[in-house]
Amino acid sequence: MLDHCPGAASVRTPTLTIKKCPQCGEEIEIFSNELKVSCEKCGFVIYNDIQSCIQWCKYARECVGEEVYRTLTELPK
Ligand SMILES: [Zn+2]
Ligand SMILES: [Zn+2]
Repeated sequence: MLDHCPGAASVRTPTLTIKKCPQCGEEIEIFSNELKVSCEKCGFVIYNDIQSCIQWCKYARECVGEEVYRTLTELPK
């Protein structure tokens, strides 16, 4: 149980992704553990499609950490 499931990896070890703002085309940097980020140019809010075990793992709280867990479970469905 000390091994964290793969679902938590992207949250535990943040990776940087570049997304394109659908509104103005500006490139937006978002880390894999960030819930959302707003475009610096136009303010458009982009949500991260976080790949994690939160939806299905019963240890998710431990996998990603209490604070992150709470943030991510507030995700709009
Ligand atoms: Zn924008
Ligand atoms: Zn997990």
